[in-house]
Amino acid sequence: MSQTIDVELRQVRKTFGSNIVVDEFDLQIQEGECISFLGPSGCGKTTTLNMIAGFLEPDGGEIRIKGKRMNGVPSNKRELGMVFQTYSLFPHMTVAENVAYGLKLRKVPKAEVKQRVAKALELVKLPQVADRYPKQLSGGQRQRIAIARALVIEPSLLLLDEPLSNLDAKLREELREEIKRLHMETGVTTIFVTHDQEEALYLSDRIVVLSNGKVEQIGTPLEIYNRPATEFVHTFIGKSNKLPAVVEVQDGETLQLRADAGFKLQATAKGQKLTAGSAAHAYIRPEKLRLAVPGTNPLGANSAQGRVRQLSFLGAFAECDVEIGSATVTVRIQTIGEHAGLKPGDPVALIWHPEDVFVFPGEER
Ligand code: ATP
Repeated sequence: MSQTIDVELRQVRKTFGSNIVVDEFDLQIQEGECISFLGPSGCGKTTTLNMIAGFLEPDGGEIRIKGKRMNGVPSNKRELGMVFQTYSLFPHMTVAENVAYGLKLRKVPKAEVKQRVAKALELVKLPQVADRYPKQLSGGQRQRIAIARALVIEPSLLLLDEPLSNLDAKLREELREEIKRLHMETGVTTIFVTHDQEEALYLSDRIVVLSNGKVEQIGTPLEIYNRPATEFVHTFIGKSNKLPAVVEVQDGETLQLRADAGFKLQATAKGQKLTAGSAAHAYIRPEKLRLAVPGTNPLGANSAQGRVRQLSFLGAFAECDVEIGSATVTVRIQTIGEHAGLKPGDPVALIWHPEDVFVFPGEER
């Protein structure tokens, strides 16, 4: 990937009345990157995308595309491809006419339009539906055509606003694979808006996690998952067991905590400094907890004795809820092998590694 900055947001801000919906948004997107804006409903993802698209003007800050200031530049002068959540195809036009639309607006010669439309339909693997109308297509096919229509103009930037949200689970997975393949084949700089963390992890070179109009963290999927900057980022990405606790002592990178549930745990501080006696929220993901034979205590403070409360079979794996002290934590287990015969009421030991325990400051009490 080259290191040319394709899109830049500098201190971008948007308010609706007294409501600040995007605040001091700074971001540099490299040429060819696929970036996701990820966050819960109402965090400002679409508003930011709409400012980049030119549908909304920022109240403050600057948006630059390919080095040019875009504030005040109308959307149709930004050379963007856009795909929305709802299939925005023209119902009275055939698929080929829909895909050709942007090229005709740009007065591309007829022969070239024909050839580029055919190429775009090949790219999304739907050359056979060129003469059909949108209502004769499935939801997944319509979204592929919407993507073909966005790509055919060879946009400088592809903006995708929750394009998979209206599809069922199986189709979502298929289409996100398609989008990843198309991004690799075309190399077009892409911004993908989603509230689905798995989609963002799967597709993105980097993720921007947003909450309440503010950037919480910008990083690669691995950084976001393994080095969350905030409690919000950790809990929004994936599932995690929350254990309110008190910090007993910090010795360099090692934190000793006492969980309110009645057991001790260790954590690596990951650069944080916490005062002894302060309240904390400790987290361990279900896949980072291991079941062991009851009574074993191989890792000292990094284990606890408990009892199985409930098992939930989820296909590729199962979730086992375990009562430890007054807390219930979820552990991800394999459904074959040593845990196959596990049942509610069985005593178990839980073990974990301190580097898998994430600690964030809690509210003082
Ligand atoms: P979703 O996933 O639900 O689309 P989002 O993260 O994309 O959410 P936005 O659509 O950007 O969020 O909205 C951010 C905030 O701005 C919300 O509180 C929303 O109600 C508000 N908002 C958006 N558009 C307008 C508008 N035109 N007028 C007033 N408030 C608006």
